[in-house]
Amino acid sequence: MLIRNIGLRRCTRRLLSTKIKESSSTNTSHAISNRQLLYTTDAASPGSIFFLPHGTRILNKLIQFMKNQQIKYGFQEVVTPLIFKTKLWKKSGHWDNYKDDMFKVVGFDMSKEEITEGSIEEHEYGLKPMNCPSHCMIFAKFDRSYNELPIRYSDFSSLHRNEASGALSGLTRVRRFHQDDGHIFCNVSHIDQEIKNTLNLIKDTYGVFGITKIDYYLSTRPEKYMGDVDTWDEAESQLKKVLNESTGEGAWQIREGDGAFYGPKIDVLLTDAFNKKHQVGTIQLDFQLPKRFDLKYAAEDGSRDNQPILIHRAVFGSLERFFAILLDHYQGKWPFWINPRQAMIIPVNDSHVDAAEKLQRKLSGDIINTDESISPLTGFNFHVDVDKRAATVGHRTKEAIQSGNSYIILIGDRDIANGTYSVRSRDDRKVENLTGDEIYQKFVDLEKKYQ
Ligand SMILES: [Zn+2]
Repeated sequence: MLIRNIGLRRCTRRLLSTKIKESSSTNTSHAISNRQLLYTTDAASPGSIFFLPHGTRILNKLIQFMKNQQIKYGFQEVVTPLIFKTKLWKKSGHWDNYKDDMFKVVGFDMSKEEITEGSIEEHEYGLKPMNCPSHCMIFAKFDRSYNELPIRYSDFSSLHRNEASGALSGLTRVRRFHQDDGHIFCNVSHIDQEIKNTLNLIKDTYGVFGITKIDYYLSTRPEKYMGDVDTWDEAESQLKKVLNESTGEGAWQIREGDGAFYGPKIDVLLTDAFNKKHQVGTIQLDFQLPKRFDLKYAAEDGSRDNQPILIHRAVFGSLERFFAILLDHYQGKWPFWINPRQAMIIPVNDSHVDAAEKLQRKLSGDIINTDESISPLTGFNFHVDVDKRAATVGHRTKEAIQSGNSYIILIGDRDIANGTYSVRSRDDRKVENLTGDEIYQKFVDLEKKYQ
């Protein structure tokens, strides 16, 4: 509760300062003020982001977008714990190779632990920095057969990594973040196709955001590694082959010694508006974790001692970092489908407010606009506001454009008489006269096409 109050006080302060900035008309100040309405931070939780309501709308859209793609690619979403006993992290190898970047969690009242044998240290927990061990545990819970493979799990859990406080930076280097994480358990014959699928999804996803400059890097065996050199060499040559086939020879680069401790990886980097490169997507081959978790499946010949291969993959990577890249990429001009402010309705005067609010309910979709006491689960629902202030139409239109609304809808006497509304986009003065149904359909079409 305390944290919430501090957050709210800070939000209010920022909202006030934003109002002052919004009266300026330069693009830069709008990009900054837009950012301040989306997220904030607080010294009470360094490196953790408070997504404000509009920022949360964008984040949820990114997650929904990826959930739908993952269903198409055969992933099953799972929900997994945040804290695990140290014993688990020792088993996964994180304790030896990653401990310095983890948070330790210990209950204040140890009497709540069932300490029946061994030392009290066994009741220490670590906050998870990665989802992989959880997914291995789910794989290991059941007898697995070759005809179930590939098994693909996805997870949007929050992850914590103990970054140095001096290294924390905005949304790009944080301590708590979320990934569009996924793990594929497969056999050697599936690797090519699974990696190709992931590279395609990465390219297609970035394309939706108009991002076409993508850099691919193959990171090879680091100094601190698990497993034997032959397996590493085999995995690296597999990844080289797929990269050549998917992106073309010479279209990717090598980063010697930059692989994860458990396997080689393909990193995907995007360049932001300031020419700074950010790692986003990743594909990592892992022969070690299945061994550590003793993962097995029954083969076609009946043998039961077959070990699956694990592929770690993420398309957005850190959602927080991808969000930061989009902020710079769009400079406050979010496309309609992901815009937290999709339309502003402006009634010309008080007599048009009822009609404006009726249209707002209609465009808000069936979640709000239903006669049932319970709203339905699905449908198209748009973020639409009404500006009822007494200011002139010109002033309100200008402000609606400056604050990033995709569409501005005017309602006056003539509109009400004609049964239509005057609709213009943020970027084009051309006005269309559309009925409420036509506007709703236009918005549905835009969202379906990710425009
Ligand atoms: Zn992983």
